Amino acid sequence: MRILIVEDEPKIAGFIKKGLEEENWNTLVAYDGMTALDLLNTDTFDVIILDIMLPGIDGLSVLQNLRDQGNNTPVILLTAKDTVSDRVKGLRSGADDYLIKPFSFDELLARLEALVRRDKRSFSGTLKSADIEIDIKKHRVTRKGKRINLTPSEFRVLKLLLENYGHVLSRLAIEEEIWGLNLEKETNIVDVYINRLRKKIDVPFNSSLIHTVRGFGYKLESTDED
Ligand code: CA
Repeated sequence: MRILIVEDEPKIAGFIKKGLEEENWNTLVAYDGMTALDLLNTDTFDVIILDIMLPGIDGLSVLQNLRDQGNNTPVILLTAKDTVSDRVKGLRSGADDYLIKPFSFDELLARLEALVRRDKRSFSGTLKSADIEIDIKKHRVTRKGKRINLTPSEFRVLKLLLENYGHVLSRLAIEEEIWGLNLEKETNIVDVYINRLRKKIDVPFNSSLIHTVRGFGYKLESTDED
């Protein structure tokens, strides 16, 4: 998880950064609006924590600018001013949530987690990497333009791999995400599903997208030359 913290008060920025890093979230701090916009032009984040009162370009203008460019990264606004007009303005500018200063770190963390969950759930477009594409709403999978029929569980495993394209997922991470946290004894369910997927998405095309990373797990990646 990668988070941009836009906050001009070093003490608050440091407090948020330290807390999030303890939770193993990857953070970057921008101390003014211009720097934030520059970073957002060249980098992507899972969530943005955005202070409203900033030197130069204020938080609401940063947000407006971002949304105008079609950037829909979830934004949580920080504000010292607990006024109705600020909230309305913020929500109209496309903020996803609000936090009034001073706030506890636990509350910020809970809100961030809720935002990330909501963002994942609400995404219902298509995912595409290399020559494979899935339509989330229609549960339709195509590779090289050819339709592939998957069972619902196979679809979920493939979707998870595609969402993490190029990154290794451990068997345990896949198990937890797809089948929940309650598998107490070791099972080979993940390997079973990976094998089924390989038969459908790799074998017929004579080119492997699913790779075993020994000792770690699996990843989806194209090794074909472009
Ligand atoms: Ca400020």
